[in-house]
Amino acid sequence: MMKKFFAILIAALLWVTVPAQAADLGVELEDIGVGEFNTPIEKFYATLPKAKGDYKSRVRPIVIEGAMNTETEVLIRALKNPVVYSEMHYMFVAGTYKNYPVVIVRTEVGVANAAASTALAITKFNPIAVINQGTAGGHDPALKIGTVIIGERSFDNTAFRSAYSVAGAGIDLTKQENIGTYAYDEASGKFQAYTEFFADPTLFNIAFKVANAHKEFNVVSGVIGTGNTWIECVDYINFLHEKYGSSCEEMETNAVAQICQNADIPFIGIRVLSDNVTNSREYVAESAKVAQDFVLLVVEEYIRDVLKK
Ligand code: SAH
Repeated sequence: MMKKFFAILIAALLWVTVPAQAADLGVELEDIGVGEFNTPIEKFYATLPKAKGDYKSRVRPIVIEGAMNTETEVLIRALKNPVVYSEMHYMFVAGTYKNYPVVIVRTEVGVANAAASTALAITKFNPIAVINQGTAGGHDPALKIGTVIIGERSFDNTAFRSAYSVAGAGIDLTKQENIGTYAYDEASGKFQAYTEFFADPTLFNIAFKVANAHKEFNVVSGVIGTGNTWIECVDYINFLHEKYGSSCEEMETNAVAQICQNADIPFIGIRVLSDNVTNSREYVAESAKVAQDFVLLVVEEYIRDVLKK
Protein backbone atom coordinates (compact mmCIF):
# COMPACT_ATOMS: atom_id res chain seq x y z
CA MET A 1 0.00 0.00 0.00
CA MET A 2 2.74 2.43 1.16
CA LYS A 3 4.95 1.28 -1.73
CA LYS A 4 2.22 2.07 -4.20
CA PHE A 5 1.68 5.47 -2.64
CA PHE A 6 5.37 6.37 -3.02
CA ALA A 7 5.42 5.05 -6.57
CA ILE A 8 2.55 7.38 -7.42
CA LEU A 9 4.21 10.24 -5.56
CA ILE A 10 7.49 9.79 -7.43
CA ALA A 11 5.64 9.48 -10.73
CA ALA A 12 3.86 12.73 -9.95
CA LEU A 13 7.16 14.45 -9.13
CA LEU A 14 8.76 13.23 -12.34
CA TRP A 15 5.78 14.30 -14.38
CA VAL A 16 7.39 17.64 -15.01
CA THR A 17 10.08 19.53 -13.12
CA VAL A 18 8.04 22.09 -11.34
CA PRO A 19 9.79 25.27 -10.30
CA ALA A 20 8.25 27.72 -7.87
CA GLN A 21 5.00 29.19 -9.14
CA ALA A 22 5.59 32.63 -10.61
CA ALA A 23 4.33 35.22 -8.21
CA ASP A 24 2.00 37.99 -9.32
CA LEU A 25 3.49 38.95 -12.65
CA GLY A 26 2.81 42.62 -11.98
CA VAL A 27 2.43 43.41 -15.65
CA GLU A 28 -0.97 43.94 -17.20
CA LEU A 29 -2.00 43.17 -20.75
CA GLU A 30 -2.20 46.89 -21.49
CA ASP A 31 1.46 47.30 -20.58
CA ILE A 32 2.42 45.33 -23.62
CA GLY A 33 1.71 47.78 -26.39
CA VAL A 34 1.01 46.19 -29.72
CA GLY A 35 2.85 48.90 -31.61
CA GLU A 36 6.18 48.38 -29.88
CA PHE A 37 6.23 44.68 -30.23
CA ASN A 38 9.54 43.57 -28.86
CA THR A 39 10.50 45.87 -26.04
CA PRO A 40 7.75 45.60 -23.42
CA ILE A 41 7.67 41.82 -23.57
CA GLU A 42 11.13 41.73 -22.03
CA LYS A 43 9.58 43.37 -18.99
CA PHE A 44 6.93 40.65 -18.94
CA TYR A 45 9.45 37.83 -19.36
CA ALA A 46 11.64 39.39 -16.69
CA THR A 47 8.90 38.61 -14.17
CA LEU A 48 8.98 34.89 -15.07
CA PRO A 49 11.47 32.61 -13.33
CA LYS A 50 14.39 31.38 -15.41
CA ALA A 51 14.64 27.62 -15.89
CA LYS A 52 17.42 25.86 -14.06
CA GLY A 53 19.11 23.05 -15.98
CA ASP A 54 17.71 21.05 -18.85
CA TYR A 55 14.02 20.50 -19.49
CA LYS A 56 12.88 17.23 -17.98
CA SER A 57 9.43 15.91 -18.52
CA ARG A 58 8.34 12.31 -18.48
CA VAL A 59 5.61 13.30 -20.91
CA ARG A 60 6.41 14.88 -24.27
CA PRO A 61 5.04 18.44 -24.25
CA ILE A 62 2.87 20.21 -26.79
CA VAL A 63 4.70 23.13 -28.41
CA ILE A 64 2.61 26.20 -29.28
CA GLU A 65 4.28 28.95 -31.26
CA GLY A 66 3.66 32.61 -31.96
CA ALA A 67 5.97 35.13 -33.59
CA MET A 68 5.44 38.18 -31.40
CA ASN A 69 4.48 39.10 -27.86
CA THR A 70 0.95 39.93 -28.98
CA GLU A 71 0.74 36.40 -30.38
CA THR A 72 2.16 34.56 -27.36
CA GLU A 73 1.15 36.56 -24.35
CA VAL A 74 -2.28 35.02 -23.77
CA LEU A 75 -0.74 31.55 -24.06
CA ILE A 76 2.05 32.30 -21.60
CA ARG A 77 -0.41 33.72 -19.09
CA ALA A 78 -2.45 30.52 -19.37
CA LEU A 79 0.50 28.36 -18.23
CA LYS A 80 0.90 27.10 -14.70
CA ASN A 81 4.39 27.23 -13.25
CA PRO A 82 5.99 28.95 -16.25
CA VAL A 83 9.78 28.98 -16.56
CA VAL A 84 11.80 30.63 -19.30
CA TYR A 85 14.47 28.98 -21.42
CA SER A 86 16.50 30.93 -23.91
CA GLU A 87 18.49 29.66 -26.89
CA MET A 88 20.11 31.99 -29.40
CA HIS A 89 17.87 34.75 -28.03
CA TYR A 90 14.67 32.84 -28.81
CA MET A 91 12.34 32.52 -25.84
CA PHE A 92 10.73 29.27 -24.75
CA VAL A 93 8.32 29.26 -21.84
CA ALA A 94 7.63 25.84 -20.36
CA GLY A 95 4.83 25.10 -17.94
CA THR A 96 1.65 23.11 -17.77
CA TYR A 97 -1.82 23.67 -19.17
CA LYS A 98 -4.71 21.50 -17.94
CA ASN A 99 -2.07 19.50 -16.07
CA TYR A 100 -0.24 18.68 -19.27
CA PRO A 101 3.27 19.94 -20.20
CA VAL A 102 3.17 22.75 -22.75
CA VAL A 103 5.96 24.92 -24.15
CA ILE A 104 5.25 28.30 -25.72
CA VAL A 105 7.83 29.42 -28.27
CA ARG A 106 8.23 33.01 -29.36
CA THR A 107 9.61 32.30 -32.81
CA GLU A 108 10.16 35.95 -33.81
CA VAL A 109 8.97 37.10 -37.22
CA GLY A 110 9.76 35.40 -40.52
CA VAL A 111 10.58 32.02 -42.01
CA ALA A 112 14.22 31.67 -40.90
CA ASN A 113 13.40 32.55 -37.30
CA ALA A 114 10.38 30.25 -37.30
CA ALA A 115 12.43 27.35 -38.67
CA ALA A 116 15.39 27.91 -36.34
CA SER A 117 13.33 28.29 -33.18
CA THR A 118 11.23 25.24 -34.11
CA ALA A 119 14.35 23.11 -34.68
CA LEU A 120 15.71 24.26 -31.31
CA ALA A 121 12.37 23.52 -29.64
CA ILE A 122 12.30 20.03 -31.15
CA THR A 123 15.77 19.12 -29.92
CA LYS A 124 15.30 20.78 -26.55
CA PHE A 125 11.76 19.69 -25.65
CA ASN A 126 11.01 16.64 -27.84
CA PRO A 127 7.39 17.72 -28.45
CA ILE A 128 4.53 15.33 -29.21
CA ALA A 129 3.02 17.97 -31.52
CA VAL A 130 3.66 21.51 -32.74
CA ILE A 131 0.99 24.17 -33.28
CA ASN A 132 1.97 27.40 -34.98
CA GLN A 133 -0.55 30.20 -34.59
CA GLY A 134 -0.84 33.95 -34.93
CA THR A 135 -2.17 36.65 -37.20
CA ALA A 136 -2.45 36.68 -40.98
CA GLY A 137 -3.61 38.81 -43.87
CA GLY A 138 -6.65 37.60 -45.79
CA HIS A 139 -6.52 36.60 -49.46
CA ASP A 140 -10.19 35.70 -49.64
CA PRO A 141 -12.64 38.64 -49.76
CA ALA A 142 -15.27 36.46 -48.06
CA LEU A 143 -13.20 36.34 -44.86
CA LYS A 144 -13.42 39.15 -42.32
CA ILE A 145 -10.84 40.33 -39.79
CA GLY A 146 -11.18 38.14 -36.69
CA THR A 147 -11.94 34.97 -38.66
CA VAL A 148 -9.93 31.94 -37.57
CA ILE A 149 -8.38 29.84 -40.33
CA ILE A 150 -7.53 26.23 -39.56
CA GLY A 151 -4.71 25.50 -41.99
CA GLU A 152 -5.55 22.31 -43.86
CA ARG A 153 -2.31 22.93 -45.78
CA SER A 154 0.33 25.57 -46.33
CA PHE A 155 2.72 26.59 -49.10
CA ASP A 156 5.60 29.03 -49.56
CA ASN A 157 4.18 31.94 -51.52
CA THR A 158 7.68 33.15 -52.42
CA ALA A 159 9.17 29.86 -53.65
CA PHE A 160 8.82 30.67 -57.33
CA ARG A 161 10.74 30.16 -60.50
CA SER A 162 9.83 32.86 -62.99
CA ALA A 163 9.34 32.19 -66.69
CA TYR A 164 12.22 33.31 -68.89
CA SER A 165 11.76 36.62 -70.62
CA VAL A 166 14.18 38.99 -72.33
CA ALA A 167 15.38 42.28 -70.85
CA GLY A 168 12.81 45.00 -71.31
CA ALA A 169 9.88 42.59 -71.57
CA GLY A 170 8.56 43.66 -68.18
CA ILE A 171 7.66 41.61 -65.15
CA ASP A 172 4.74 39.21 -65.25
CA LEU A 173 4.55 37.51 -61.89
CA THR A 174 1.64 35.39 -63.00
CA LYS A 175 3.99 33.36 -65.24
CA GLN A 176 5.84 31.89 -62.27
CA GLU A 177 5.69 28.33 -60.99
CA ASN A 178 5.89 27.26 -57.38
CA ILE A 179 9.02 25.15 -56.85
CA GLY A 180 8.39 24.34 -53.20
CA THR A 181 10.74 24.09 -50.24
CA TYR A 182 12.91 21.15 -49.27
CA ALA A 183 12.07 18.74 -46.49
CA TYR A 184 13.04 15.20 -45.59
CA ASP A 185 11.05 12.47 -47.28
CA GLU A 186 10.95 9.25 -45.28
CA ALA A 187 10.20 6.99 -48.27
CA SER A 188 13.16 8.08 -50.42
CA GLY A 189 15.46 8.93 -47.52
CA LYS A 190 16.27 12.29 -49.14
CA PHE A 191 15.34 15.94 -48.98
CA GLN A 192 12.75 16.74 -51.59
CA ALA A 193 10.83 19.78 -52.78
CA TYR A 194 7.36 20.11 -51.29
CA THR A 195 4.97 22.59 -52.88
CA GLU A 196 2.66 22.13 -49.89
CA PHE A 197 2.52 20.60 -46.43
CA PHE A 198 -0.66 19.13 -44.94
CA ALA A 199 -1.85 19.50 -41.39
CA ASP A 200 -1.77 16.48 -39.13
CA PRO A 201 -5.24 14.92 -39.59
CA THR A 202 -5.81 14.32 -35.87
CA LEU A 203 -5.04 17.94 -34.97
CA PHE A 204 -7.13 19.10 -37.90
CA ASN A 205 -10.15 17.07 -36.76
CA ILE A 206 -9.78 18.26 -33.18
CA ALA A 207 -9.65 21.88 -34.36
CA PHE A 208 -12.86 21.29 -36.31
CA LYS A 209 -14.55 19.70 -33.35
CA VAL A 210 -13.66 22.74 -31.25
CA ALA A 211 -14.96 25.07 -33.98
CA ASN A 212 -18.29 23.23 -34.01
CA ALA A 213 -18.60 23.34 -30.24
CA HIS A 214 -17.65 27.04 -29.94
CA LYS A 215 -19.84 29.10 -32.19
CA GLU A 216 -18.49 32.29 -30.61
CA PHE A 217 -15.53 31.85 -32.97
CA ASN A 218 -15.89 32.44 -36.67
CA VAL A 219 -13.86 29.54 -38.06
CA VAL A 220 -13.08 28.20 -41.54
CA SER A 221 -10.51 25.77 -42.86
CA GLY A 222 -8.17 27.03 -45.50
CA VAL A 223 -4.77 27.35 -47.12
CA ILE A 224 -1.98 29.36 -45.52
CA GLY A 225 0.58 31.08 -47.77
CA THR A 226 3.93 31.83 -46.09
CA GLY A 227 6.86 34.06 -46.97
CA ASN A 228 8.94 37.01 -45.81
CA THR A 229 6.52 39.26 -47.61
CA TRP A 230 3.59 41.47 -46.73
CA ILE A 231 1.56 41.78 -49.90
CA GLU A 232 -0.90 44.64 -50.35
CA CYS A 233 -1.08 44.50 -54.12
CA VAL A 234 -4.61 43.15 -54.57
CA ASP A 235 -3.97 41.88 -58.10
CA TYR A 236 -1.07 39.81 -56.80
CA ILE A 237 -3.15 38.54 -53.88
CA ASN A 238 -5.91 37.58 -56.31
CA PHE A 239 -3.38 35.69 -58.40
CA LEU A 240 -2.16 33.70 -55.35
CA HIS A 241 -5.72 33.11 -54.20
CA GLU A 242 -6.89 31.89 -57.60
CA LYS A 243 -3.85 29.86 -58.60
CA TYR A 244 -2.91 28.36 -55.21
CA GLY A 245 -6.15 28.69 -53.28
CA SER A 246 -4.53 30.77 -50.55
CA SER A 247 -6.96 31.89 -47.84
CA CYS A 248 -4.37 34.07 -46.12
CA GLU A 249 -0.71 35.02 -45.92
CA GLU A 250 1.73 35.22 -43.05
CA MET A 251 5.41 34.65 -42.40
CA GLU A 252 5.94 31.42 -40.42
CA THR A 253 3.58 28.46 -40.91
CA ASN A 254 5.07 26.73 -43.94
CA ALA A 255 8.62 26.99 -42.57
CA VAL A 256 7.51 25.29 -39.35
CA ALA A 257 5.59 22.62 -41.29
CA GLN A 258 8.81 21.92 -43.21
CA ILE A 259 10.88 21.41 -40.05
CA CYS A 260 8.15 19.27 -38.45
CA GLN A 261 8.12 17.09 -41.55
CA ASN A 262 11.91 16.59 -41.15
CA ALA A 263 11.39 15.49 -37.56
CA ASP A 264 8.15 13.60 -38.26
CA ILE A 265 6.20 15.58 -35.67
CA PRO A 266 2.45 16.23 -36.03
CA PHE A 267 1.86 19.86 -36.98
CA ILE A 268 -0.94 22.33 -37.63
CA GLY A 269 -1.05 26.05 -38.39
CA ILE A 270 -3.98 28.08 -37.07
CA ARG A 271 -4.32 31.77 -37.91
CA VAL A 272 -6.62 34.68 -37.25
CA LEU A 273 -7.05 37.48 -39.78
CA SER A 274 -5.63 40.76 -38.49
CA ASP A 275 -6.01 42.34 -41.92
CA ASN A 276 -7.47 41.65 -45.32
CA VAL A 277 -6.76 44.21 -48.04
CA THR A 278 -9.18 42.48 -50.39
CA ASN A 279 -12.06 43.91 -48.33
CA SER A 280 -10.65 46.46 -45.85
CA ARG A 281 -7.60 48.65 -45.16
CA GLU A 282 -7.72 47.98 -41.43
CA TYR A 283 -5.03 46.20 -39.38
CA VAL A 284 -6.27 44.88 -36.04
CA ALA A 285 -3.26 43.60 -34.10
CA GLU A 286 -5.46 42.75 -31.10
CA SER A 287 -7.12 39.97 -33.11
CA ALA A 288 -4.04 37.92 -32.11
CA LYS A 289 -5.89 37.14 -28.88
CA VAL A 290 -8.64 35.30 -30.78
CA ALA A 291 -6.20 32.77 -32.27
CA GLN A 292 -4.66 32.11 -28.86
CA ASP A 293 -8.04 31.63 -27.18
CA PHE A 294 -9.09 29.24 -29.92
CA VAL A 295 -5.79 27.32 -29.85
CA LEU A 296 -6.02 26.86 -26.08
CA LEU A 297 -9.37 25.12 -26.61
CA VAL A 298 -7.82 22.94 -29.32
CA VAL A 299 -4.96 22.03 -26.98
CA GLU A 300 -7.38 21.20 -24.17
CA GLU A 301 -9.38 18.94 -26.46
CA TYR A 302 -6.21 17.33 -27.85
CA ILE A 303 -5.00 16.55 -24.33
CA ARG A 304 -8.35 15.11 -23.27
CA ASP A 305 -9.24 13.25 -26.49
CA VAL A 306 -5.90 12.03 -27.77
CA LEU A 307 -3.00 12.34 -25.37
CA LYS A 308 -4.69 11.17 -22.17
CA LYS A 309 -6.49 8.25 -23.80
N1 SAH B 1 2.83 45.31 -37.63
C1 SAH B 1 3.55 44.57 -36.65
C2 SAH B 1 4.58 43.68 -37.32
C3 SAH B 1 3.96 42.60 -38.06
S1 SAH B 1 5.15 41.70 -38.90
C4 SAH B 1 4.20 45.48 -35.72
O1 SAH B 1 4.75 46.47 -36.16
O2 SAH B 1 4.17 45.21 -34.52
C5 SAH B 1 4.16 40.50 -39.58
C6 SAH B 1 3.75 39.41 -38.63
O3 SAH B 1 2.35 39.34 -38.66
C7 SAH B 1 4.29 38.09 -39.10
O4 SAH B 1 4.65 37.30 -38.01
C8 SAH B 1 3.14 37.48 -39.90
O5 SAH B 1 3.02 36.09 -39.67
C9 SAH B 1 1.90 38.22 -39.43
N2 SAH B 1 1.05 38.85 -40.47
C10 SAH B 1 -0.17 39.38 -40.19
N3 SAH B 1 -0.72 39.89 -41.30
C11 SAH B 1 0.16 39.69 -42.32
C12 SAH B 1 0.14 40.00 -43.72
N4 SAH B 1 -0.86 40.64 -44.27
N5 SAH B 1 1.23 39.64 -44.47
C13 SAH B 1 2.26 39.02 -43.91
N6 SAH B 1 2.32 38.69 -42.59
C14 SAH B 1 1.29 39.01 -41.79
